[in-house]
Amino acid sequence: MLGLMQDWPLLCSKIIDHAATVHGGRNIVSRSVEGPIHRTTYAEVRTRARQVAKRLEKHGIRLGDRVATLAWNTWRHLEVWYGITGLGAVCHTVNPRLFPDQIAWIMNHAESRILFVDLTFLPLVEKLKPSLPLVEQVVVLTDAAHLPENSVGALPYESWIAEVDSDFAWPTFDENTAAGLCYTSGTTGDPKGVVYSHRSQVLHGLLAVMPDTLNLSSSATVLPVVPMFHANCWGIAHAAPISGARIVFPGPKMDGASIHELLQDEKVTHTAAVPTVWLMLLQHLDKTGGSLDFLKRVVIGGSAAPRSMTQAFRDRFGIEVMHAWGMTETSPLGTVCSLKPEVADITGDEWLDLKEKQGFTPFMVEIEVTDDENRPRPHDGTTFGRLKVRGPAISRGYFKIGDVVDEDGWFDTGDVATIDPLGYMQITDRSKDVIKSGGEWISSIDLENIAVGHPDVAEAAVIGVRHPKWDERPLLVIVAKEGRSPTRESLLKFFEGKIARWWMPDDVVLVDEIPHTATGKIKKLTLREQFKDYRLPTE
Ligand code: AMP
Repeated sequence: MLGLMQDWPLLCSKIIDHAATVHGGRNIVSRSVEGPIHRTTYAEVRTRARQVAKRLEKHGIRLGDRVATLAWNTWRHLEVWYGITGLGAVCHTVNPRLFPDQIAWIMNHAESRILFVDLTFLPLVEKLKPSLPLVEQVVVLTDAAHLPENSVGALPYESWIAEVDSDFAWPTFDENTAAGLCYTSGTTGDPKGVVYSHRSQVLHGLLAVMPDTLNLSSSATVLPVVPMFHANCWGIAHAAPISGARIVFPGPKMDGASIHELLQDEKVTHTAAVPTVWLMLLQHLDKTGGSLDFLKRVVIGGSAAPRSMTQAFRDRFGIEVMHAWGMTETSPLGTVCSLKPEVADITGDEWLDLKEKQGFTPFMVEIEVTDDENRPRPHDGTTFGRLKVRGPAISRGYFKIGDVVDEDGWFDTGDVATIDPLGYMQITDRSKDVIKSGGEWISSIDLENIAVGHPDVAEAAVIGVRHPKWDERPLLVIVAKEGRSPTRESLLKFFEGKIARWWMPDDVVLVDEIPHTATGKIKKLTLREQFKDYRLPTE
């Protein structure tokens, strides 16, 4: 027999064991829901995660059972995350920003037996409890002194884990066992549950650490603003302990001033969030003239990073923006826009053009663009196609639905993208949102990005509206900045020279509000419904 390598299942408990053993004293700083800043270490997180596991086992939780969290990013959420998965149960992170009915639907669909909840959401849980018949115990992530009287028999976390000690050995099981469950917010139909395995979480954690991805190390301090309930915390809850990076958790406060305070006080070097968060931070810095003295890398994803934002971080603060693309189904890191040596020397507008792209894939992620008949399209940077993805941390399907990948393992992302000869991918649209005019495709995202550059526009959405000749034509829907009322002519003129003439929106509508999903994305379906009978002046 050959002397092959040891067979060592890739389990999440190995991650926290590594952090506790090798980086045990490293700080986990957290803004707490009760108010003050809390400081702990990886060693302490592991000790308390073992208590969580032991207490869950005492309750009767077994391998594969779902245990839910409805919580902000805090040290207690991290303990619970590792306690649940370490035991072999499934950590089901629920997005509190969803509508209450959707939360109940998701909890029942997942059949989660225990619910860990932050104090903030206790009133919501009290309201929802009659529709959550499968939840056997609510545990509030606080101590007895802070827990108010409640109608659901909720117990305070601190007393609940204190019922057991931390003498608990992590069980060993198959690395393909489910570790996490996260539902996509879904702009259509019921939410769908993405199931992460231990193997996929460990591999994705490693992929997230790499230099062209998040570039974490034991000397980094990372602030994940991106919530643990949204797309697996972009892998940071695994990547940070794998690398030994110090973590700073924002707790419930994600406004510009609070984030700025943490970035400065805790000397944060790496951070990640959706563009909305960075918009709030930049507005705060505009108002206060504040600086960013320690930050090196800002990861922006979830929706397209506006050019003006990338430019502001670079020109005003000398910080590198890493534009990233991913989805709940991709664990989520799919591509990151790091600079390859071939483009390391580019400057000015060319640099900004490149940073508008979502980037290239790290090892273990493969992408392709195809036409509707599944034929690959050229990687020339201009031809769009349906974006397909595959790899060991890419979902094959959904909980209780089953596999949705094709015979070659490709998952259809529902995004439309280009790939250039260097492998840089750029999202041009969602496949449902791309406007099909005379058989050609128009990118609604490109038009929106241009429209928001207009000085009077606060927010813009572009949708396809039925057209008798062209099938669909673009309609621009905008919310004006306070006190401004831009004319149709000035808005359309703004596109001149920036797009091909046939991409020009056929009309403009001013609205008070554009509808959004729970994760802050524009609800195009609702907009399309709203304007389904709209008659374009070009008909
Ligand atoms: P979610 O699963 O809620 O994280 O949503 C994933 C979707 O968000 C993707 O399929 C894309 O449509 C969109 N998305 C994520 N990152 C980006 C990005 N950097 N630019 C444009 N769209 C993005």
